Amino acid sequence: MDLMQNDPRTVIEADRAHVWHHLVQHKPFETIDPQIIVEGKGLRVWDISGKEHLDAVSGAVWTVNVGYGRESIADAVREQMVKLCFFAGAKGTIPGAQFAKRLTEKMPGLSRVYYSNSGSEANEKAFKMVRQISHKHHGGKKSKILYRERDYHGTTIACLSAGGQQERNAQYGPFTPGFVEVPHCLEYRAQWDSEEYGIKAAEAIEEVILREGPETIGSLCLEPITAGGGIIVPPKGYWEKVQEICKKYEILLHIDEVVCGLGRTGTWFGYQQFGIQPDIVTMAKGVASGYAAISCCVTTDAVFEQFKDDTDHLGYFRDISTFGGCTSGPTAALENIRIIEDEDLCGNSARMGDYFGSKLDELMDKHQWIGDVRGMGLFRGAELVTDRGTKDPVSEKQVGAIVADCMAQGVIIGATNRSVPGFNNTLLFAPALIATKDDIDQICTAVDGAITRVLG
Ligand code: PLP
Repeated sequence: MDLMQNDPRTVIEADRAHVWHHLVQHKPFETIDPQIIVEGKGLRVWDISGKEHLDAVSGAVWTVNVGYGRESIADAVREQMVKLCFFAGAKGTIPGAQFAKRLTEKMPGLSRVYYSNSGSEANEKAFKMVRQISHKHHGGKKSKILYRERDYHGTTIACLSAGGQQERNAQYGPFTPGFVEVPHCLEYRAQWDSEEYGIKAAEAIEEVILREGPETIGSLCLEPITAGGGIIVPPKGYWEKVQEICKKYEILLHIDEVVCGLGRTGTWFGYQQFGIQPDIVTMAKGVASGYAAISCCVTTDAVFEQFKDDTDHLGYFRDISTFGGCTSGPTAALENIRIIEDEDLCGNSARMGDYFGSKLDELMDKHQWIGDVRGMGLFRGAELVTDRGTKDPVSEKQVGAIVADCMAQGVIIGATNRSVPGFNNTLLFAPALIATKDDIDQICTAVDGAITRVLG
């Protein structure tokens, strides 16, 4: 394979000298080379040394849902770039209109798409909508936004204010006021003694609402399945109760589908697994599978209609993201959604997800270190503990060693952020939705060997 026209050493040194990488301590790069990924096809990527890796996390952060090397997306984007690369503001574009229609067809009850570039931005838009509705209709009083412990909604200061992961937030305060945390719902680390844990965890949200005053709360922002915070699938009964609570107190339900949309859990969106009807849905990563930067904040008509008062000079959504006018995003997204539909990738995610789940169950039978396995579709996690009785987490160093061992075997896996101090102990798997049984076997064989070598 012709990996680089550039000399690998020059590229590595340029990276080492000038690139500030995301989410990583740079000290080790003084002595070890940063890894440069050069090429990808399907689930596989090649690094600059020519080594092949099976990518079990879709580009590190669960993004490349349709897999690498999709020429049809590149072709569509190229054609559109030449025709019209950009137009923003009040004017529309053909791909912008077409994708909004196509997307909302998959989301009964939701009808309006607001474009921006990243998951954080889409969530910021949602927060701003909630705040503006509060000012318009509730004298600015119904402005608080509830978020859940262990959930993550993005990297900006407002998103971190809505962030339930302590390590991501530490040292970036002061934060924006008006964001209030509700407890996580991970039954494996139960906070209440209850047989109906899902209902109890939802009632804990209601307790916060009553404590704060329902008239002060504009929205509840939740991930359908907590991603980086530990692949937490809310227990049975949770979502029904959450929906009921939101209706009861007239609180908008904002679902953050930045990771679960499109197709990751085996349905177009994660919320569709639970039969709920959100008011606002945000999404980013899987919208164009990383082939272009695009995010969407999708709302119901009822939300949208509140921004149509032409008797008030402030009665419209006074917001713009310049690059929300890039046509590369919706063009790539149109082809991405076509691929997911035509290749039945939601179905494959569901089927292969079940297979992945059964393979992780087998690993759990074999290794006492695995305390819990959870997930949905091709979004899976395995929580590692030193003792199944005490559930003490294995150390971060051990998790790091398992991830590194898999990497040495040519399989890229992930692990949780330290959402709660000391808890960086869940291995994460989110391969592209085209994964086969053979791919999953290869991932599980690597994890099996890594756990044996690192933990015994
Ligand atoms: N929401 C969730 C659930 C995420 O996992 C992320 C990123 O990982 C974001 C929002 C932020 O997205 P972005 O990094 O595109 O701003």
